[in-house]
Amino acid sequence: IKRWRKVKEFTGEPKLSDFDLVEEQMSTDLQTGEILLEALFLSLDPYMRIEPEHLGPDKTMFSEQVGRVVASKNPAYPVGCVVVAFVGWRTLTVLSPDQPSLFGSLGRRVPDMGNLPASLALGCVGMTGLTAYFGVERGQPQGGQTVLVSAAAGAVGSVAGQIAKMKGCTVVGSAGSKEKCNWLKQLGFDHVFNYKETTVDEALKSCVPHGIDLYIDSVGGNYTYDVVKGHMKVDGRIVVLGAISTYNSDEPLVRDWSLYLVDKQLTVIGTNVARHTDRWHHATTQLLHWGKLHYRETITKGFQHAPQAFIDLMRGRNIGKALVQV
Ligand code: NDP
Repeated sequence: IKRWRKVKEFTGEPKLSDFDLVEEQMSTDLQTGEILLEALFLSLDPYMRIEPEHLGPDKTMFSEQVGRVVASKNPAYPVGCVVVAFVGWRTLTVLSPDQPSLFGSLGRRVPDMGNLPASLALGCVGMTGLTAYFGVERGQPQGGQTVLVSAAAGAVGSVAGQIAKMKGCTVVGSAGSKEKCNWLKQLGFDHVFNYKETTVDEALKSCVPHGIDLYIDSVGGNYTYDVVKGHMKVDGRIVVLGAISTYNSDEPLVRDWSLYLVDKQLTVIGTNVARHTDRWHHATTQLLHWGKLHYRETITKGFQHAPQAFIDLMRGRNIGKALVQV
C-alpha cells in the first residue's frame, strides 16, 4: 500500500517537504466484521491545515476518502459498495467495526447516486455540501433578502449560494479569479466580484447598496471583520463556517468587532457540520434530489500528487470541490 505521512508541523503555507510517501506491505486477511477499502478519491479540505489533532500515531495525513469495498467479511458492506471513511491519504485500508474513527468506524455507505460520480460523496452531496445545507439553514434566509457568500466558487460556497437562490434570495458571491466569477454567474448568482481586482468595500457598495441580511462567511480575517461588518443590515445574521484567510497565518486572529454586533444587533452564528450527523442522511437525500444543484470539481490525478493538490487548495487554485483521484 501507499500512504502519505505528515512529517512536520505546518508553518505558513503547507510545503511538499511537510509530507513523505511511504510504501509498505500490509496484511489483507480479514477478521469477521472487517472490510478492505480501495481508495477512489481523497478529499482536500482547509481544516487539514489547522486541525493537527486528527493525526494518528502512524502520522497518515488525515482526510475523508471515498473508496470501493474490494473484500468483505461484513454483510452490511458487500464487495463493490462505495463508502466514505475518515482514513486519510492511503490507497488501501482494512476497516474494523471496533476501530475508533470519526463519523463511524466502517464509514458511511454512499446512497444510490444513479449515474453521478462517486466523488460527489465528498463534495456536493458530501461533507462540504452538507456544510452549505446546514449553514444556510442556520442563517434562515427569507425570500427577497440579500445573501453574501465568500469563497463562493469553492466546495461549500458554490452550494450555499445555489441553496440561497432556491430560497428566493438575491445572492452575491466573491471569488479570487475571473474564471471563478464567470462560473458563479452561470450558477445564477445575481452579483459576483473578484476580491483580488476590486476592494470588497467598493464592490459591496455598488452591488448591495441597501446592505446584507445574511453573510455566509468562509473567509474571516480582514474581509469579514474590517469590511463586511459595515455592510450588514440591522438584524442581520452572519453564519461563520470558517476563516480560511487566517489558516496559513501564525498570527492571532483579529476579533475586535463587538461594537458592530451591538449597534446593528447582529446575530452571529457559528456552525459545525458535525453537529448535525443525525440529519446527514436526510440532508444528503435532499441535496441529491433537488435535481437543480450544479457542481464543479478540481480533480488532481495521481495519489503521488496529493500534497501539491492540498497546497493548491490553500492557494485558491480549485474551483468547486478539490479532490485527488487515486
Ligand atoms: P474551498 O473549496 O472554498 O477552497 C478554499 C477557497 O478559499 C480557495 O479556493 C480560495 O478561493 C479561498 N481562499 C483561500 N485563501 C483566501 C483568502 N486569504 N481570502 C479569501 N479567500 C481565500 O474550501 P471549502 O469549501 O472546503 O471550505 C470553505 C470554508 O468552509 C473554509 O473556511 C472551511 O474551513 C469551512 N468549512 C467549515 C465546516 C464546518 O463544519 N463549519 C466544514 C467544511 C468547511 P478564492 O480564489 O476565491 O480566494
